Amino acid sequence: MSEPIIIIGSGFAAYQLVKTIRRMDGEVPLTVLTADDGHEYNKPDLSHAFSKQQTADDLVLKRADVFANEHNITLLTQAVVEDIDTQSHCVFSNGKKYSYSKLVFATGATAYIPPVQGNAADHVMTVNSLTELRALEPSVRRAKRIAIMGGGLIGVEIAMDLARSGKSVVVIEPNINLLGDLVPEFIARPLERQMLQLGTTLCLEESVTEINQQDQALSLTLQSGKTMAVDVVISAAGLSPNTTLASQAGIKVNKGICVDTTLRTSATDVFALGDCAEIEGRVRPYLQAISLSANTLGQQLLGVDSGLNLPAMMIRVKTPNYPIYMAGNIHSSTSWAINMTNSGIVMQASDDDQQLTGFVVTGEQVTQAYTLFRQLSVATKPL
Ligand SMILES: Cc1cc2nc3c(=O)[nH]c(=O)nc-3n(C[C@H](O)[C@H](O)[C@H](O)COP(=O)(O)OP(=O)(O)OC[C@H]3O[C@@H](n4cnc5c(N)ncnc54)[C@H](O)[C@@H]3O)c2cc1C
Repeated sequence: MSEPIIIIGSGFAAYQLVKTIRRMDGEVPLTVLTADDGHEYNKPDLSHAFSKQQTADDLVLKRADVFANEHNITLLTQAVVEDIDTQSHCVFSNGKKYSYSKLVFATGATAYIPPVQGNAADHVMTVNSLTELRALEPSVRRAKRIAIMGGGLIGVEIAMDLARSGKSVVVIEPNINLLGDLVPEFIARPLERQMLQLGTTLCLEESVTEINQQDQALSLTLQSGKTMAVDVVISAAGLSPNTTLASQAGIKVNKGICVDTTLRTSATDVFALGDCAEIEGRVRPYLQAISLSANTLGQQLLGVDSGLNLPAMMIRVKTPNYPIYMAGNIHSSTSWAINMTNSGIVMQASDDDQQLTGFVVTGEQVTQAYTLFRQLSVATKPL
């Protein structure tokens, strides 16, 4: 039998790829090596686990052994891949060597923790995986006051979720508004009001400089000199694609592992997809882009020539008290139509030819998102 296709990782990217391949070929040998426990879950569910009182175990969609049996794969869990030899086509994990015919990086990204001083600087927690949620659970259960470093997409979702679960939450964000560069200030303001109504404290244009243990609490010092006591600190300050393994193996990396539209890296028979990949210069850490990548890569791996065409994609900020949906490009447009109502905002951006180039809809106006998205998909070329 020929050497298997080896996939590193068991997140959405890896398991979408497994499913795609198995739809086309039930037999080609597939081996998955993953650093975690390999259970299938939907990562966006992490954003509402606390308010729904769900534990990490509740979020498991399929246990690792069940997934492996159903998809006829060899699944090795708690198997960190430590080294790769692209010349001899093998990977090394837990002191063992595994040969591959083709290799796929689906190693995801690591939550970024901004550098801070203090004797409790290493107490910062993150929420980018089921394992991290599991580690966070006991602390959050005990906590009354929680600080979130970062008010971007994931920061606001987690902050609102914790506030809805009854915690006293403070969000510390270096930008002048929540959701930073993603949306203009006037779109973020109503979200900020909703957060305040939930009892959340917002520290905008601020960052954490120091974290110290003080009695049972953590004392935070902010850039301005202000101090506050909290029980838990969570960083939601962005993600860094996991590229070290690839760069050690001599594979070209930039922000992510560099791939072309066939998901090929610079090494022969080595591919990458998901949060770890930089496709033609851009990292696209969203499920839709990953699903489309998995379709293309599945075909490539089975010898069907195929290239990735990414259409316009919708981004949803899952903050139930004030949802925000957006797509396309609103930043470099030449004209904007803005309709602000009590129930939400509709902002449409157009180019010189009055073609829709992007939109943002908020609050109850998110019902318009799909109509606008269809218009946008017709108007924009695949990216
Ligand atoms: C809170 C939150 C909410 C989100 N909400 C949305 C949303 O609403 N919509 C949306 O489109 N996207 C959302 N996203 C983003 C989306 O979930 C991710 O883009 C996607 O899940 C990434 O999947 P992945 O498989 O690339 O990475 P991961 O899920 O991070 O998987 C990486 C895998 O690689 C393994 N691994 C890493 N290094 C090694 C190694 N050396 N050896 C072996 N295994 C290794 C890990 O153990 C893991 O199994 C959200 C993300 C978060 C954190």
